Amino acid sequence: MSNRIKLKGTGIVPDVAIGKAVVLEDKTKIIIPFYNILKEYIDDEVERFLDALKQTKAQIEDAKQNLNSDLESTHLSIFDTHLLILKDQSLIEKTVNLIKEKSVNSEYAFKEVIKGIIAKFKGMDDEYFKQRKEDLEDIATRVIANLIKKDVNKQREFEQDTILVAKVIHPSDLSILYNGKVVGIATDYGGVTTHTSIIAKALNIPTVVGLHNVTKVVLDGDMVIVDGIEGEVIVKPQENEKSVYIEKHQKRLDFQNSLLEIARKPSMSLDGESVDLLANVEVAEEFPALQKFNADGVGLYRSEFIFLKLAPKLPSEQEHYEFYKKLCSQVKGEVTIRTLDLGGEKFFHEVLEKDEQNPVLGLRAVRFCLKRKDIFKTQLRAILRLSGENTNVKLMFPLISGVDELKEVLDFLEETKEEMKHEGIHFNEDIKKGIMIEVPSAAEIPDLLAKYVDFFSIGTNDLIQYCLAIDRNNDKVNYLYKPSHPAVIRMINRIIEAANNSGIDVSMCGEMAGNPKFTVMLLGMGLRKFSMSPRTIPLVKSIIRNVKVSDCKHIADRVLTMESASQIEKHIEAVNHKLIPDYEKLAKVKL
Ligand code: PEP
Ligand code: MG
Repeated sequence: MSNRIKLKGTGIVPDVAIGKAVVLEDKTKIIIPFYNILKEYIDDEVERFLDALKQTKAQIEDAKQNLNSDLESTHLSIFDTHLLILKDQSLIEKTVNLIKEKSVNSEYAFKEVIKGIIAKFKGMDDEYFKQRKEDLEDIATRVIANLIKKDVNKQREFEQDTILVAKVIHPSDLSILYNGKVVGIATDYGGVTTHTSIIAKALNIPTVVGLHNVTKVVLDGDMVIVDGIEGEVIVKPQENEKSVYIEKHQKRLDFQNSLLEIARKPSMSLDGESVDLLANVEVAEEFPALQKFNADGVGLYRSEFIFLKLAPKLPSEQEHYEFYKKLCSQVKGEVTIRTLDLGGEKFFHEVLEKDEQNPVLGLRAVRFCLKRKDIFKTQLRAILRLSGENTNVKLMFPLISGVDELKEVLDFLEETKEEMKHEGIHFNEDIKKGIMIEVPSAAEIPDLLAKYVDFFSIGTNDLIQYCLAIDRNNDKVNYLYKPSHPAVIRMINRIIEAANNSGIDVSMCGEMAGNPKFTVMLLGMGLRKFSMSPRTIPLVKSIIRNVKVSDCKHIADRVLTMESASQIEKHIEAVNHKLIPDYEKLAKVKL
């Protein structure tokens, strides 16, 4: 067929999906239109406004109905408040009157009325009014979005076997991925470590990102094949092509099932070195995978996903506590909770409505937490409370860039502990605290930082981004995003060495840790704790079980003398092929 199109991108989840495309709207900021309405159309305009209220009410009721997890149930009261606002007669009357009196459009009239109410709250310090203000703003956004038919992604009907096509998947659209109908994802932007990719991996949805212009060539309803193994998307495939991909998918399933057997076996090298294989977790939907793939614990819980889930509300101490408790009940070993890492590419504005010129270098992670100590403290208290019941809980701070910043964070932790002591709240005084090493300045001084903490976790996603000056989400430069760059390799080696010399724990939780290609080299550098998407645990384990750490050391030493990413890649591919039976199959799993 002549209109078949094949696009090349980066494969994320190495599997194949076939389905019909739903192209998501590009959600830019809503611009509220203002225009006059002719007298004879005023009644229609009022009708349009009332319809939008009805539509918003139906959407909220629908969302309420679909809640199922415990965390989500805490969200119920927010929905109830929003439903009450929508029923508020004075709010409706004021808007209708404004439309009639000034002959203006509904979007403008509604926004003006909401603005007027919020203005009355100004100066009132009360938490209650602050909350109401947020509720009103949220409702205004929803109603106006319905009026101008923007941001309607969530209300769309999704058929079975949907391939989601988007420029990028916004966190507020992530819930679409849980509806069980999305079988594949294809996006214009993004790379291996973009958060859409991380979530797609967590939910095991075949995905190709960085396709540049998939949204331009695909129309709603087009048949699309997403091949996450090859990093390809085929739009309007030929009829006889489909069976090839169905077979490919079946082979993938068989391979994945064969790996489950490995998941049950000990994570130990041929010369008896034991290695911890932990899981990275983002959402509750991943919990079943922790046991299925036999994770030794959780090496990274990305707590910003709680914030994203509840946005625009901020989670309360109890909501934090309950989620972490549930997370802890899923695994026997350690659970490392990383404090809020919003900012950068992580959708700051979606939660806190702030825009930044240069977000990746901006008020992100602990920098933000030190500015908003109220938010920080709420989270620390919840983690500390849980540590009193479960000594496996560990605390980790992201994006630490130097000793002064670390001290400020640790002082605040001590202050919070003191406060809790005074309140008589029990917690683990000796809770293990660690930092992510993901900023080059921290990677330069691991020996100095090691004096203050119990562990390091190497965040290669950001470390590579900052070390090589490559925006991890930018599809135009992601060809330069190279974990095997000698600068990155040397940094990682130095961090592991410093931690081992200082007698503190070190793990790696960036995507590199789950990439079987690098397992041998990292073992050789002395890494004994890897944290990754749970599904990749058997892959890495199968490498560990086939090698001797003594051999890995020689390989790492050799790699550290090399001058370029291409040379290093070539070398590690060659040794992997030599050492590991079936490496070809494992390596197909591009991560
Ligand atoms: C990292 O930077 O490697 C990391 C694990 O954190 P995140 O991907 O959440 O920034
Ligand atoms: Mg990071």
